[in-house]
Amino acid sequence: MSEISQNLQCIDFHTHIYPQNSFRNHISETQNEKIKSAFKYYSLFTHAIQQKIHIIPDTIRKNFDPLLLAFTLPPLAANSTAADLNTELLNNNIDFAIVAAHPPVITNQHIIAETNINKKLIPCLSLNFADAELFTVSNLTNPKFILKINPMAIDFDLNDEKVIEILELWNKNSWPLVIHTGALHSSFFKHPEAGQIESLLTMVEKYKSIDFILLHMNIFKPYEALEFCQKFENTKVTTSWQSEELITIACKKLGSERILFSSDWPLVGNNIEIRKNMIQNMLQNGHLTTAEAENILYLNAQKILEAYFSKKL
Ligand SMILES: [Zn+2]
Repeated sequence: MSEISQNLQCIDFHTHIYPQNSFRNHISETQNEKIKSAFKYYSLFTHAIQQKIHIIPDTIRKNFDPLLLAFTLPPLAANSTAADLNTELLNNNIDFAIVAAHPPVITNQHIIAETNINKKLIPCLSLNFADAELFTVSNLTNPKFILKINPMAIDFDLNDEKVIEILELWNKNSWPLVIHTGALHSSFFKHPEAGQIESLLTMVEKYKSIDFILLHMNIFKPYEALEFCQKFENTKVTTSWQSEELITIACKKLGSERILFSSDWPLVGNNIEIRKNMIQNMLQNGHLTTAEAENILYLNAQKILEAYFSKKL
């Protein structure tokens, strides 16, 4: 990694950590390191493909979604735990990472336990009423975690009384709310179509003071995300799953203040390195100014987190 990229401070706004898997219990650390290195080539390939998929018409692509998701999974076997993430943060000079739950695979409790140990990891819990004790009024009026809603995976209605109560509270405080965007047609998700950015229209229009952070720029339909965000000032997008070209366009249309660096590690492999390098390339080839790169990589996230948690990072 070049000196410029090493020197840029960085917060990864969206990562995950998985529980230790049984495969890892049967191999040595040295063997695992070799597997990780081999996956670097695989990741370059999956990243290159992933960034071009938005060109394929939706009607055709839908049939391939389960296959595309399957391609993102193999690296998880060798590189996906909290300890692995910590190594990635050190290797890529990342200051903090927001780690998101994805129940039932990655439970909210797992995120709380791991982020309590490592202060570089900031918890992002998934609103889920099976974990009602985490989302009580007292926990929510003084939240110690970022809140995320994944409309494709939830088992409640966004018009549910309890959800409205939370949205009203978030709106009153102008707090950030992380939302997964991008429809993925797979049995992993209960309501794939709810991933389409238009499904957020009523909520974003109604709660004008919530700072909506739209993960992945709607994945395969990034232009629709940008059009949506141009209409609503209370929205920001994150860079995961998008190409240098799309991030450049997003920066022109929305301004660098509304773009946050995210990798979605470890879903497509060693993507923290690949994604940070993308921003560095954009800086070197003049597609981003230093001030824009600093906003995207660190300053925007810093501003959000310091205001929300009422403390310096
Ligand atoms: Zn994710």
